[in-house]
Amino acid sequence: MVVNYINGEDKSGSGPTQAIVNPATGEPVREVTMSTSKDVEVAVASSSKAVETWSRVSPLKRARVLAKYQQALIDNIDTLAGIVSEEHGKTFDDARGEVTRGIEVVEYACGAPELLKGEHMMEVGPGIDSWSQFHPVGVVAGITPFNFPAMVPMWMFPMAIACGNAFILKPSEKDPSASIFLAKLFSESGLPDGVLNIVQGGAEAVNALLVHPEIDAISFVGSTSIARHVYQTGAALGKRVQALGGAKNHAIVMPDADMESTANALMGAAFGSCGERCMAISVAVCVGDGVADTLVTELSDRIASLKVGPGNIAGMDMGPLISESHRENVAHFIASGKEQGATPVVDGTEWSESNGGYFLGATLFDHVKPDMRIYQEEIFGPVLCVVRVSSFDEALHLVNTHAYGNGSCIFTNNGAVARAFTDNVHVGMAGVNVALPVPSAAHSFGGWKQSLFGDLHAYGPDAIRFYTRRKTICQRWPKSSVNSGPSYAFPSN
Ligand code: NAD
Repeated sequence: MVVNYINGEDKSGSGPTQAIVNPATGEPVREVTMSTSKDVEVAVASSSKAVETWSRVSPLKRARVLAKYQQALIDNIDTLAGIVSEEHGKTFDDARGEVTRGIEVVEYACGAPELLKGEHMMEVGPGIDSWSQFHPVGVVAGITPFNFPAMVPMWMFPMAIACGNAFILKPSEKDPSASIFLAKLFSESGLPDGVLNIVQGGAEAVNALLVHPEIDAISFVGSTSIARHVYQTGAALGKRVQALGGAKNHAIVMPDADMESTANALMGAAFGSCGERCMAISVAVCVGDGVADTLVTELSDRIASLKVGPGNIAGMDMGPLISESHRENVAHFIASGKEQGATPVVDGTEWSESNGGYFLGATLFDHVKPDMRIYQEEIFGPVLCVVRVSSFDEALHLVNTHAYGNGSCIFTNNGAVARAFTDNVHVGMAGVNVALPVPSAAHSFGGWKQSLFGDLHAYGPDAIRFYTRRKTICQRWPKSSVNSGPSYAFPSN
């Protein structure tokens, strides 16, 4: 049974339990407790107490705990990747990649003393020095999706904790075991009890966190509809909120692109993790019919040799989808694409060796039009849509008028076109001959438009801003010569 982890102890929740299913077999592997608002209350009380002390621990000492944690994570990377692969379904190598990217955020958070130094200027006025200092926000709640059960929580809690906050994580109920492993390893690395609490569950637990008066900030990653709800509810109560939502990421393929490497990159970006990545490429916009014809041939050849199967079997390229209902959803999208007139070059629903798991083959649609559902909506499955346009401007217009603005990339050998793309594309993360431009830990991750509600992105420098309150101090130690009587004009220099 996967339970809550509060104040350094396992604690059963007071709600019902729910099965966690291995998506490669369709068999339940264990259960998870679904917390109620009563359980959230217990977690918040523990966090509120823990933050009183943790916020006063020096950044250097916080960093030392993080450094031990980083090594513990490296030592346990395969165990953690195995947990992720079993409950999520992604291949072991893919899970290892996700854990590695999470560890990079811990590594960045180890720089807490440098990152939290603040800013200082002398003589901003006569005899006046001024500086900014960064204070912890307080108790932060993090709500995370199923598709990166280790990495997305690690985008959040290491940075929040490095900044002196206490953190309550509500992971996805579909694959919650990684969160417990992460929290216990942090405790073993010296993190005081209550600084990182885990509350399992679904909407009830989330909604209790959103309205709790002692929760000061909320980091959310998930679908756009829930992101909007989280942002609106939290912001209306005066909380600091960042809510990252869904995506529909386009790759523009120019006639001068190297077709072989473009096709290889698009295979990984579209079908890696069964398309269940918020940075997955789901639309290839080909500039010119010749480009589209070549790309479609290159992709179909590669799809024919894609190895689909359980993520824990070595050599697999793509595992199952997360659940039966999600597989049905994706199959409905594929049916709607066919009904609306797109050409199914490869139809993943014809792939039938499911063996009880939630498998689906890769799907490639050609001649997709912008008014089709498969173009407009996030499918979150192994479906790549090819759209044909006649110019770069037309391709850019498509990207820029889409409702989502997470990531986008261009494949080209023309520097001027690449520059026009990065300057003008309306997304938060752009790639040039890089299909998944996921920022490294020293930059920040986030989209535009319906892909992010709030102002600050996840991890990197934005996380320091998000997880701290700024205070600016002006200080003068008056000498008698400066004391020249009252002045009623607004102070200026
Ligand atoms: P989801 O929105 O269903 O769930 C996310 C979290 O919200 C989970 O913890 C879940 O328990 C909770 N939740 C679900 N329904 C709720 C409700 N009615 N009220 C309150 N809380 C609720 O998302 P998911 O299916 O777990 O993840 C896939 C989605 O996440 C995709 O849309 C994907 O694009 C998005 N995603 C975005 C990013 C990003 O950085 N922008 C990263 C990863 C995933």
